[in-house]
Amino acid sequence: MDYRGRLNRLQSALAEGRLDALLVTSLPNIRYLCGFTGSAAALLVTQSACYFFSDGRYAQQAREEVQGAKIKIARKAALTAAAGWLVVSDKKLRLKRLGIEGDHLSLAESSRLRKTLGPGVRLRQAPPWVERQRMVKDAEEIGRLRQAVLLGARLFDTALKTIRPGVSEVQVAAEMEYAARQAGTEGMAFETIIAAGERSALPHGRASKAPVPARGFVVCDFGVILAGYCSDMTRTVYVGRSSARDREVYAAVRAAQQAAVEAVTPGKSVGEVDRAARNVLKKKGLAPYFTHSTGHGVGLEIHEAPRVAAGQSEILQPGMVITVEPGVYIAGRGGVRIEDMVVVTERGCEVLTPTAKEFLAI
Ligand code: ZN
Ligand code: ZN
Repeated sequence: MDYRGRLNRLQSALAEGRLDALLVTSLPNIRYLCGFTGSAAALLVTQSACYFFSDGRYAQQAREEVQGAKIKIARKAALTAAAGWLVVSDKKLRLKRLGIEGDHLSLAESSRLRKTLGPGVRLRQAPPWVERQRMVKDAEEIGRLRQAVLLGARLFDTALKTIRPGVSEVQVAAEMEYAARQAGTEGMAFETIIAAGERSALPHGRASKAPVPARGFVVCDFGVILAGYCSDMTRTVYVGRSSARDREVYAAVRAAQQAAVEAVTPGKSVGEVDRAARNVLKKKGLAPYFTHSTGHGVGLEIHEAPRVAAGQSEILQPGMVITVEPGVYIAGRGGVRIEDMVVVTERGCEVLTPTAKEFLAI
């Protein structure tokens, strides 16, 4: 991974933003900047250097993983250690304006930080520079995402083998998660959603003890983490005999998903992708049942920038990886969602998810 390039870009942003340093406390951001995969750390990035703080539990792991930063292992929590170190080295650094990641620092932490640093250092909420860098993936990241997507997609075969009337949703999820672990993943990217029958109308119906009924949709939304990168896909199958109306609803969601995928082109805004999906459903009178946004960025985290939603103006750029996942949820009848991961290319996009999207009855 190009840690040096990432750090250099952040340091230029610091200079432009007139901050002497940025205290990075988001673990995915820390991982992105220096490679550390543990669960307790802080990273202090100045315009010309980078310091990594963690505690004794991570001394060895830090030495093995951290690149491009001086490692400081302390007996205290990483944030306290970073603040203490800043106070001691303050004269050398002549730090006046310290950026913090407001979204990743609690009120208690920031007031402790303020207290330790004293009145000479001003804390400033920094713009989401690292998150913005992370939106555009490099070739190595796209390679990892591709592997995660392919492995994740294999779990759908496990789901198809397991789903039948009477089997509980958690049993289906358990089989998929066991297969994921066996295949070498670090775990699931989020709680597996298996929502059968009327429960399929819940957009976030995580697998419950409820049995799959004799008839109805089953929404399967799942993803894995492989080499740090997340996959995310949804397929909806039908158990038993479907009605013409059920097949119509499915066809509408599929058309909406296709239209949104076709709208993914560099230079277009994410809001236009959302609109493409919504317009198809509007023509079928189903727009009121599409109650969430069309997609999200995915990478080190399952949900990251950009948000693919109505009114969002972020412009698509080659290298962005987003999900496209419209859905229709009708209480009492059921729901349908179809979700692929796509990477924005120079001329359009490439769908990474290899799985078929035809109406499937089992
Ligand atoms: Zn999903
Ligand atoms: Zn998703």
